[in-house]
Amino acid sequence: MDLFEHEAKELFALHGVPVPVGRVATTSAEAASIAAELGGRVVVKAQVKTGGRGKAGGVKLADGPDEARALADQILGMDIKGHTVHKVLVEQASAIAEEYYVSFLLDRANRNYLLIASEEGGMEIEEVAAQRPEALVRVPVSVLHGVDDAFARHIAEEANLPASVLDQTTDILRKLWEVLVGEDATLVEVNPLILTAEGRVVALDGKVTLDDNARFRHPAHAQFVDVAAADPLERSAREKHLNYVKLEGEVGVIGNGAGLVMSTLDVVAGAGEAFGGIRPANFLDIGGGASAQVMADGLHIVLSDPSVRSVLVNVFGGITACDAVAAGIVSAMEMLHAQGERFDKPIVVRLDGNNAEEGRRILVEAEHDLIEMSPTMDEAAKRAAELAAAAIPGGA
Ligand code: GDP
Ligand code: MN
Repeated sequence: MDLFEHEAKELFALHGVPVPVGRVATTSAEAASIAAELGGRVVVKAQVKTGGRGKAGGVKLADGPDEARALADQILGMDIKGHTVHKVLVEQASAIAEEYYVSFLLDRANRNYLLIASEEGGMEIEEVAAQRPEALVRVPVSVLHGVDDAFARHIAEEANLPASVLDQTTDILRKLWEVLVGEDATLVEVNPLILTAEGRVVALDGKVTLDDNARFRHPAHAQFVDVAAADPLERSAREKHLNYVKLEGEVGVIGNGAGLVMSTLDVVAGAGEAFGGIRPANFLDIGGGASAQVMADGLHIVLSDPSVRSVLVNVFGGITACDAVAAGIVSAMEMLHAQGERFDKPIVVRLDGNNAEEGRRILVEAEHDLIEMSPTMDEAAKRAAELAAAAIPGGA
């Protein structure tokens, strides 16, 4: 999960990294009152989860509350690389003497962490990295040793930072590493890390990516979850601990095992070409267990998607045998019916693997009008695509 700049700075402050004083506003009136509270010059910054805000006109300096209000008016609602600005950060403006770059990131290829530092931070860092890679110092950080003062100072020197900022930068690098480890982040980036005219080193911008797999360890991070931005179906799937991703098409897909579901998506997209470009509507892996409850939750989510016209349940029985899955489907339909859910979307089921025959018998005996079976994945995908196309008003 990527954080907004103001959230990243909250974590920085929590770990003792110096950041400018400021607060978030969602209206221009609020921006003006924060500016009045802060006094003097302020900077108004678009809060969107993408870089290059400065170049896009999303970061502007204001002399006081009136100008802050006018700038917030301009910036709120602005579109930056497809992200609409819903809030701005209003901060006391800093007088910048120099701009540096520092980041810690997970280096997956080398199974390690990487510290990158440069004396040439700021909005042109991408060009610097592309044209003069030697201007960036890149050093692996061992998780076992971490970042101590000697290491941090050495890197700051290697990056050519002036002697006068070494003490402060050493301290900041150590603390940024603590942010990464302590908050379970995979990226902590500060661009620019500035030297102010008064001689202070401050994180002027912040980018943090948290490791979602470690979310259970950080109840406090719940505040960062951007509920408004999440797809409502994905949100309810997450609440039910389902591995679901919303896609653009018309055929709902449910399967057991991520690999099987991914190939099902490909097969549906392939089969759908013959029916005017029918495509999968989602990824949903119900995993190994696939109890009736999980199947009911999965079917409920997929059937609730208004763009779904047909559903393909593709199960390969392994440890959980097909008869258990078939029984799960039958009782899932009963559970949904009992809950008063009325769906009329056709469901194509393909069962194979452990106890497939018994599974098919259970479905045949259930005689459910919406459920039909298909012997192979290809045929099932073709049938699901055909049913989806037929269900589209005015469609094929
Ligand atoms: P980004 O463009 O999305 O990376 O946003 P930044 O937060 O890095 O801001 C872009 C640029 O705006 C910085 O590199 C600074 O040059 C400038 N900037 C941001 N805050 C201030 C400030 O308080 N004072 C001054 N003078 N410039 C600022
Ligand atoms: Mn920046």
